[in-house]
Amino acid sequence: MIEVKDLVKKYDNHLAVDHLTFTVPRGQILGFLGPNGAGKSTTMNIITGYISATEGSVSINGHDIYEEPEEAKKSIGYLPEQPPVYTDMTVKEYLGFVAELKRVPKKEREPQIASALAKTGTVDVAKRLIKHLSKGYRQRVGIAQAIIGNPEVIILDEPTVGLDPVQIIEIRDLMKELAKEHTVILSSHILSEISAVCDTVMIINNGRLVVSDTVENLPQHLNAQNSCRVVIKGTEDLVKPLMEELEDVKELSLEGDGEFVTVTVTSDSQVDLREDIFFACARAGLPIYEMSNVTRNLEDIFLELTRSEETTEELPTEGEIKEESEENADVSDL
Ligand code: ADP
Ligand code: MG
Repeated sequence: MIEVKDLVKKYDNHLAVDHLTFTVPRGQILGFLGPNGAGKSTTMNIITGYISATEGSVSINGHDIYEEPEEAKKSIGYLPEQPPVYTDMTVKEYLGFVAELKRVPKKEREPQIASALAKTGTVDVAKRLIKHLSKGYRQRVGIAQAIIGNPEVIILDEPTVGLDPVQIIEIRDLMKELAKEHTVILSSHILSEISAVCDTVMIINNGRLVVSDTVENLPQHLNAQNSCRVVIKGTEDLVKPLMEELEDVKELSLEGDGEFVTVTVTSDSQVDLREDIFFACARAGLPIYEMSNVTRNLEDIFLELTRSEETTEELPTEGEIKEESEENADVSDL
């Protein structure tokens, strides 16, 4: 079990980790989710003893990472975001080197290397130089070195970055397989990645914990709302008063083109406005052409949760993204 209490990391005046507290029980696959710059790598580097914290404590199975670093580190296997590369070694030589570093007893080295190769599907490339491997295989070797020493906890920092879709699926399957025997913590800035493999998700933003819950429970952390989009044949000055007369409307927006008006109304989650809208339009003799409930997917939820706080690294708005891609399109047109 990992216990992190009031963790703080300051770089000069910049708070990269801001009083982070959480525990990870055994046997879980936990996703550490947050936009770039949220503080994921910093936190993982502290938990694994790579860098020191400014304040706070980390204990692994009851061993404090500063007071008993050897004991604490024995329980953790780590694949950093930028793994050290020993490209002139073969995979097997490299794993032997790691086993030595981790002080695996001599007798156990061979069987442990064999098992790590088997578990990560790297038996066939064991004798190849690391520099000749694809990125997907290098990542597998990175995971193999993390499981040498048979640590209870495996921490993987953005393990699928830079991989192609097939490799991503393979690494995900591998992580699920590892979770049968180890506690696995992985970080990602992509929600779908986390929801595909994790039991629990911790969303962090600006070094702070925003939400910690199961993937299914995420929507409950939002101000639950119902939104309905309606296209009505008519002009804005006819439609607007009808919508304003509806009860329980929290937000209303209208956009007319002279012939049709597109209306979006938002209410509390327990209120369904569709029948009221239908009867109001029918009474006024205004035909409804379309009506649909606007549902929010997990991606929207993630964006809302991480945007609701002031972000230091501003995310581009949809408009800006569009402008940018239009600019790029211009360039490629030339
Ligand atoms: P993430 O892994 O979530 O993308 P990081 O933990 O790498 O985020 O970074 C968190 C914040 O700390 C960022 O604002 C980053 O610029 C800053 N940071 C990270 N490492 C350093 C460093 N060595 N020196 C100064 N600032 C750093
Ligand atoms: Mg990172």
